[in-house]
Amino acid sequence: MNKGTVIETTGSWHEIMLDSGKIVRARLKGKLRLEELKLTNPVSVGDRVTIGNSDDDESIVIHEIEERKNKIIRQSPRKKRFYHIIAANIDQAFIIASITMPKTKVGFISRVLIALEYYDISTTVVFNKVDLYQKKEAAMLAWLREDLETIGYKTMLTSASNGEGIVELEKEMKDKINVVTGPSGVGKSTLLNQLNPALELRTGDVSSYNEKGQHTTPFSRMHKLPKGGFVIDTPGIKEYGLANIDAYELSFYFPEMKPLINECQFNNCQHVNEPKCAVRAALSNGEIAEWRYRNYLLIREELLIENKPYL
Ligand code: GDP
Ligand code: ZN
Repeated sequence: MNKGTVIETTGSWHEIMLDSGKIVRARLKGKLRLEELKLTNPVSVGDRVTIGNSDDDESIVIHEIEERKNKIIRQSPRKKRFYHIIAANIDQAFIIASITMPKTKVGFISRVLIALEYYDISTTVVFNKVDLYQKKEAAMLAWLREDLETIGYKTMLTSASNGEGIVELEKEMKDKINVVTGPSGVGKSTLLNQLNPALELRTGDVSSYNEKGQHTTPFSRMHKLPKGGFVIDTPGIKEYGLANIDAYELSFYFPEMKPLINECQFNNCQHVNEPKCAVRAALSNGEIAEWRYRNYLLIREELLIENKPYL
Protein backbone atom coordinates (compact mmCIF):
# COMPACT_ATOMS: atom_id res chain seq x y z
CA MET A 1 0.00 0.00 0.00
CA ASN A 2 1.27 3.39 -1.04
CA LYS A 3 0.25 6.84 0.11
CA GLY A 4 0.13 9.96 -1.98
CA THR A 5 -1.56 13.27 -2.78
CA VAL A 6 -4.07 13.77 -5.59
CA ILE A 7 -2.68 16.43 -7.92
CA GLU A 8 -5.22 16.34 -10.74
CA THR A 9 -8.60 14.82 -11.36
CA THR A 10 -10.22 14.33 -14.75
CA GLY A 11 -13.52 12.47 -14.63
CA SER A 12 -12.91 9.07 -13.07
CA TRP A 13 -9.10 9.15 -13.42
CA HIS A 14 -7.01 10.75 -10.74
CA GLU A 15 -3.36 11.69 -10.93
CA ILE A 16 -1.54 10.97 -7.70
CA MET A 17 1.90 11.98 -6.57
CA LEU A 18 3.17 9.25 -4.30
CA ASP A 19 5.24 10.24 -1.29
CA SER A 20 8.24 8.83 -3.17
CA GLY A 21 7.69 11.50 -5.84
CA LYS A 22 6.46 9.04 -8.46
CA ILE A 23 3.28 9.98 -10.34
CA VAL A 24 0.59 7.37 -11.02
CA ARG A 25 -2.95 7.37 -12.39
CA ALA A 26 -5.68 5.61 -10.48
CA ARG A 27 -9.41 5.10 -10.33
CA LEU A 28 -11.53 5.02 -7.23
CA LYS A 29 -12.26 1.57 -5.88
CA GLY A 30 -16.00 1.12 -5.88
CA LYS A 31 -17.85 3.71 -3.87
CA LEU A 32 -15.99 5.32 -0.99
CA ARG A 33 -18.21 7.38 1.18
CA LEU A 34 -16.23 9.73 3.31
CA GLU A 35 -18.70 12.17 4.77
CA GLU A 36 -22.30 13.24 4.99
CA LEU A 37 -21.98 16.13 2.57
CA LYS A 38 -23.41 15.36 -0.85
CA LEU A 39 -20.56 15.66 -3.28
CA THR A 40 -20.46 15.75 -7.07
CA ASN A 41 -16.79 14.71 -7.00
CA PRO A 42 -15.65 12.10 -4.50
CA VAL A 43 -11.94 12.85 -5.02
CA SER A 44 -10.34 16.26 -5.07
CA VAL A 45 -6.89 17.72 -5.58
CA GLY A 46 -5.14 17.77 -2.23
CA ASP A 47 -6.75 14.55 -1.04
CA ARG A 48 -4.44 12.17 0.78
CA VAL A 49 -5.06 8.68 -0.55
CA THR A 50 -3.89 5.11 -0.16
CA ILE A 51 -3.54 3.21 -3.41
CA GLY A 52 -3.04 -0.42 -4.29
CA ASN A 53 -3.57 -2.88 -7.11
CA SER A 54 -7.05 -3.72 -8.24
CA ASP A 55 -8.28 -7.22 -7.41
CA ASP A 56 -9.47 -7.84 -10.99
CA ASP A 57 -6.64 -6.51 -13.11
CA GLU A 58 -3.30 -4.78 -13.05
CA SER A 59 -4.67 -1.27 -12.72
CA ILE A 60 -4.10 0.97 -9.71
CA VAL A 61 -7.02 1.92 -7.50
CA ILE A 62 -7.61 4.29 -4.62
CA HIS A 63 -8.50 2.20 -1.58
CA GLU A 64 -8.89 4.95 0.93
CA ILE A 65 -9.25 8.71 1.15
CA GLU A 66 -8.04 10.20 4.42
CA GLU A 67 -10.33 12.48 6.33
CA ARG A 68 -9.91 16.03 4.99
CA LYS A 69 -8.59 18.59 7.42
CA ASN A 70 -10.36 21.32 5.42
CA LYS A 71 -11.76 21.84 1.95
CA ILE A 72 -12.82 24.56 -0.42
CA ILE A 73 -16.28 23.73 -1.65
CA ARG A 74 -18.75 25.32 -4.00
CA GLN A 75 -22.40 24.63 -4.42
CA SER A 76 -23.05 22.61 -7.52
CA PRO A 77 -24.58 24.86 -10.20
CA ARG A 78 -26.61 21.93 -11.56
CA LYS A 79 -27.54 19.78 -8.59
CA LYS A 80 -29.17 21.57 -5.69
CA ARG A 81 -27.77 20.78 -2.26
CA PHE A 82 -24.79 19.07 -3.82
CA TYR A 83 -21.27 20.37 -3.38
CA HIS A 84 -18.17 20.26 -5.50
CA ILE A 85 -14.79 20.15 -3.78
CA ILE A 86 -12.32 22.54 -5.36
CA ALA A 87 -9.34 21.54 -3.20
CA ALA A 88 -8.69 19.73 0.06
CA ASN A 89 -6.17 19.72 2.91
CA ILE A 90 -4.94 23.24 2.30
CA ASP A 91 -2.22 24.35 4.69
CA GLN A 92 -2.39 28.05 3.97
CA ALA A 93 -3.52 30.70 1.51
CA PHE A 94 -1.86 33.72 -0.03
CA ILE A 95 -3.88 36.68 -1.25
CA ILE A 96 -1.85 38.48 -3.88
CA ALA A 97 -2.61 42.20 -3.86
CA SER A 98 -1.04 45.42 -5.07
CA ILE A 99 -1.21 49.03 -3.97
CA THR A 100 -0.99 50.17 -7.58
CA MET A 101 -1.40 49.02 -11.21
CA PRO A 102 -3.97 47.76 -10.43
CA LYS A 103 -4.80 48.94 -6.93
CA THR A 104 -6.47 46.16 -4.95
CA LYS A 105 -9.55 47.37 -3.11
CA VAL A 106 -9.63 46.73 0.63
CA GLY A 107 -13.16 45.38 0.11
CA PHE A 108 -11.70 42.69 -2.11
CA ILE A 109 -9.14 41.76 0.54
CA SER A 110 -11.85 41.59 3.23
CA ARG A 111 -14.09 39.42 1.05
CA VAL A 112 -11.35 36.89 0.36
CA LEU A 113 -10.32 36.88 4.01
CA ILE A 114 -13.91 36.16 5.03
CA ALA A 115 -14.10 33.27 2.55
CA LEU A 116 -10.83 31.85 3.88
CA GLU A 117 -11.99 32.21 7.48
CA TYR A 118 -15.09 30.28 6.47
CA TYR A 119 -12.90 27.48 5.12
CA ASP A 120 -10.65 27.71 8.18
CA ILE A 121 -7.49 28.38 6.18
CA SER A 122 -4.81 30.67 7.58
CA THR A 123 -3.85 33.47 5.23
CA THR A 124 -0.98 35.75 4.32
CA VAL A 125 -1.56 38.91 2.29
CA VAL A 126 1.24 39.42 -0.24
CA PHE A 127 1.71 42.90 -1.65
CA ASN A 128 3.34 42.47 -5.05
CA LYS A 129 4.81 45.07 -7.43
CA VAL A 130 6.66 46.82 -4.59
CA ASP A 131 9.10 48.06 -7.24
CA LEU A 132 6.37 50.45 -8.38
CA TYR A 133 5.50 51.94 -5.00
CA GLN A 134 6.28 55.63 -4.53
CA LYS A 135 5.82 57.67 -1.36
CA LYS A 136 2.03 57.71 -1.51
CA GLU A 137 1.79 53.94 -2.11
CA ALA A 138 4.36 53.26 0.63
CA ALA A 139 2.22 55.18 3.13
CA MET A 140 -0.92 53.31 2.12
CA LEU A 141 0.98 50.01 2.35
CA ALA A 142 2.23 50.86 5.84
CA TRP A 143 -1.21 51.44 7.35
CA LEU A 144 -2.85 48.54 5.55
CA ARG A 145 -0.11 46.15 6.73
CA GLU A 146 -0.38 47.39 10.27
CA ASP A 147 -4.16 46.93 10.33
CA LEU A 148 -3.94 43.44 8.82
CA GLU A 149 -1.20 42.32 11.20
CA THR A 150 -3.09 43.70 14.20
CA ILE A 151 -6.00 41.48 13.21
CA GLY A 152 -3.58 38.55 13.02
CA TYR A 153 -2.89 38.15 9.30
CA LYS A 154 0.67 37.83 8.08
CA THR A 155 1.81 40.13 5.28
CA MET A 156 4.70 39.91 2.82
CA LEU A 157 6.20 42.13 0.14
CA THR A 158 7.28 40.92 -3.28
CA SER A 159 8.26 42.10 -6.70
CA ALA A 160 7.92 39.54 -9.42
CA SER A 161 9.85 41.98 -11.63
CA ASN A 162 13.05 42.41 -9.62
CA GLY A 163 12.81 39.26 -7.49
CA GLU A 164 12.40 40.98 -4.13
CA GLY A 165 10.77 38.73 -1.54
CA ILE A 166 10.58 35.68 -3.81
CA VAL A 167 13.00 33.62 -1.73
CA GLU A 168 10.98 34.41 1.41
CA LEU A 169 7.73 33.45 -0.32
CA GLU A 170 9.32 30.23 -1.54
CA LYS A 171 10.39 29.40 2.02
CA GLU A 172 6.89 30.03 3.37
CA MET A 173 5.36 27.74 0.75
CA LYS A 174 7.88 24.90 1.01
CA ASP A 175 6.43 21.43 1.70
CA LYS A 176 2.90 22.80 2.12
CA ILE A 177 -0.29 22.81 0.08
CA ASN A 178 -0.72 26.50 -0.72
CA VAL A 179 -3.61 28.29 -2.31
CA VAL A 180 -3.02 31.49 -4.22
CA THR A 181 -5.76 33.93 -5.10
CA GLY A 182 -6.08 37.57 -6.04
CA PRO A 183 -7.61 39.91 -8.60
CA SER A 184 -6.45 39.89 -12.23
CA GLY A 185 -3.34 41.81 -13.08
CA VAL A 186 -1.64 41.84 -9.67
CA GLY A 187 1.01 39.41 -10.90
CA LYS A 188 -0.11 35.96 -9.76
CA SER A 189 1.05 34.17 -12.90
CA THR A 190 4.34 36.08 -12.95
CA LEU A 191 4.94 35.16 -9.30
CA LEU A 192 4.07 31.50 -9.87
CA ASN A 193 6.43 31.42 -12.84
CA GLN A 194 9.16 32.85 -10.63
CA LEU A 195 8.51 30.14 -8.04
CA ASN A 196 8.56 27.46 -10.69
CA PRO A 197 10.08 28.56 -14.01
CA ALA A 198 9.04 25.26 -15.60
CA LEU A 199 5.39 26.30 -15.31
CA GLU A 200 5.48 28.96 -18.02
CA LEU A 201 2.00 30.23 -17.14
CA ARG A 202 0.64 32.79 -19.51
CA THR A 203 0.97 36.27 -18.07
CA GLY A 204 -0.82 39.23 -19.48
CA ASP A 205 -1.70 42.84 -19.19
CA VAL A 206 -4.66 43.91 -17.10
CA SER A 207 -6.41 44.86 -20.32
CA SER A 208 -6.36 41.28 -21.60
CA TYR A 209 -8.87 40.23 -18.96
CA ASN A 210 -12.56 40.83 -19.33
CA GLU A 211 -14.25 43.64 -17.44
CA LYS A 212 -15.43 41.54 -14.54
CA GLY A 213 -11.81 40.60 -14.00
CA GLN A 214 -12.50 36.94 -14.62
CA HIS A 215 -9.51 34.71 -14.87
CA THR A 216 -8.94 32.90 -18.13
CA THR A 217 -8.78 29.51 -16.37
CA PRO A 218 -11.84 28.91 -14.17
CA PHE A 219 -10.56 25.60 -12.74
CA SER A 220 -8.12 25.18 -9.92
CA ARG A 221 -4.88 23.51 -10.79
CA MET A 222 -2.28 22.13 -8.50
CA HIS A 223 1.33 22.86 -9.40
CA LYS A 224 4.34 21.23 -7.82
CA LEU A 225 6.94 23.54 -6.36
CA PRO A 226 10.50 22.59 -7.27
CA LYS A 227 11.65 22.77 -3.65
CA GLY A 228 8.71 20.74 -2.32
CA GLY A 229 5.06 21.47 -1.78
CA PHE A 230 2.24 22.49 -4.05
CA VAL A 231 0.49 25.63 -5.11
CA ILE A 232 -3.11 25.80 -6.24
CA ASP A 233 -4.38 28.72 -8.27
CA THR A 234 -7.99 29.21 -7.12
CA PRO A 235 -9.69 32.08 -8.89
CA GLY A 236 -13.20 31.62 -7.48
CA ILE A 237 -12.48 31.23 -3.78
CA LYS A 238 -14.12 34.52 -2.78
CA GLU A 239 -17.42 33.76 -4.49
CA TYR A 240 -17.58 30.15 -3.28
CA GLY A 241 -16.91 31.12 0.31
CA LEU A 242 -19.32 34.04 0.50
CA ALA A 243 -22.13 32.01 -1.09
CA ASN A 244 -22.08 29.77 1.99
CA ILE A 245 -22.23 32.55 4.57
CA ASP A 246 -25.36 33.88 6.21
CA ALA A 247 -25.51 37.67 6.71
CA TYR A 248 -26.42 37.21 10.38
CA GLU A 249 -23.26 35.35 11.16
CA LEU A 250 -20.87 37.53 9.16
CA SER A 251 -19.07 39.04 12.17
CA PHE A 252 -18.00 35.54 13.12
CA TYR A 253 -15.62 35.65 10.14
CA PHE A 254 -13.97 38.90 11.24
CA PRO A 255 -11.33 37.71 13.74
CA GLU A 256 -11.22 41.14 15.40
CA MET A 257 -15.01 41.05 15.98
CA LYS A 258 -15.45 37.40 16.86
CA PRO A 259 -14.21 37.59 20.49
CA LEU A 260 -16.47 40.61 21.15
CA ILE A 261 -19.73 39.13 19.91
CA ASN A 262 -20.63 37.63 23.29
CA GLU A 263 -20.08 40.97 24.97
CA CYS A 264 -22.80 42.75 23.00
CA GLN A 265 -25.98 43.36 24.99
CA PHE A 266 -28.15 41.43 22.56
CA ASN A 267 -27.08 37.92 21.73
CA ASN A 268 -28.29 38.40 18.16
CA CYS A 269 -26.59 41.81 17.83
CA GLN A 270 -25.78 42.70 14.22
CA HIS A 271 -23.46 45.54 15.30
CA VAL A 272 -25.34 48.06 13.17
CA ASN A 273 -27.26 50.35 15.56
CA GLU A 274 -28.08 48.22 18.60
CA PRO A 275 -27.38 49.70 22.05
CA LYS A 276 -24.38 48.51 24.07
CA CYS A 277 -22.68 46.89 21.10
CA ALA A 278 -19.14 45.75 21.92
CA VAL A 279 -18.09 45.81 18.28
CA ARG A 280 -19.08 49.45 17.82
CA ALA A 281 -17.45 50.31 21.14
CA ALA A 282 -14.22 48.78 19.82
CA LEU A 283 -14.68 50.79 16.63
CA SER A 284 -14.96 54.08 18.53
CA ASN A 285 -11.86 53.44 20.60
CA GLY A 286 -9.85 52.48 17.52
CA GLU A 287 -9.46 48.77 18.21
CA ILE A 288 -11.36 47.92 15.05
CA ALA A 289 -10.20 49.61 11.85
CA GLU A 290 -12.83 51.81 10.18
CA TRP A 291 -12.33 50.25 6.77
CA ARG A 292 -12.94 46.80 8.22
CA TYR A 293 -16.18 47.91 9.87
CA ARG A 294 -17.30 49.63 6.65
CA ASN A 295 -16.53 46.42 4.75
CA TYR A 296 -18.57 44.51 7.33
CA LEU A 297 -21.64 46.71 6.79
CA LEU A 298 -21.32 46.62 3.02
CA ILE A 299 -20.83 42.87 2.72
CA ARG A 300 -23.64 42.27 5.22
CA GLU A 301 -26.01 44.31 3.04
CA GLU A 302 -24.97 42.27 0.01
CA LEU A 303 -25.52 39.00 1.83
CA LEU A 304 -28.95 40.15 2.99
CA ILE A 305 -30.11 40.44 -0.60
CA GLU A 306 -31.79 37.12 -1.07
CA ASN A 307 -30.67 36.64 -4.61
CA LYS A 308 -27.01 36.46 -3.78
CA PRO A 309 -24.87 37.68 -6.66
CA TYR A 310 -22.28 35.04 -5.86
CA LEU A 311 -24.44 32.05 -6.64
P1 GDP B 1 -2.28 37.92 -12.93
O1 GDP B 1 -3.49 38.34 -13.69
O2 GDP B 1 -2.45 38.17 -11.46
O3 GDP B 1 -1.84 36.53 -13.20
O4 GDP B 1 -1.10 38.92 -13.39
P2 GDP B 1 0.12 38.68 -14.39
O5 GDP B 1 1.13 37.78 -13.77
O6 GDP B 1 -0.41 38.32 -15.73
O7 GDP B 1 0.77 40.14 -14.40
C1 GDP B 1 0.08 41.27 -14.93
C2 GDP B 1 1.11 42.30 -15.40
O8 GDP B 1 1.85 42.82 -14.29
C3 GDP B 1 2.14 41.73 -16.36
O9 GDP B 1 2.39 42.68 -17.37
C4 GDP B 1 3.36 41.51 -15.48
O10 GDP B 1 4.56 41.60 -16.21
C5 GDP B 1 3.25 42.67 -14.50
N1 GDP B 1 3.86 42.36 -13.18
C6 GDP B 1 3.70 41.25 -12.44
N2 GDP B 1 4.39 41.34 -11.28
C7 GDP B 1 4.99 42.56 -11.28
C8 GDP B 1 5.83 43.26 -10.35
O11 GDP B 1 6.18 42.79 -9.27
N3 GDP B 1 6.22 44.53 -10.71
C9 GDP B 1 5.86 45.10 -11.90
N4 GDP B 1 6.32 46.32 -12.16
N5 GDP B 1 5.08 44.47 -12.78
C10 GDP B 1 4.65 43.22 -12.49
ZN1 ZN C 1 -22.79 44.15 18.57
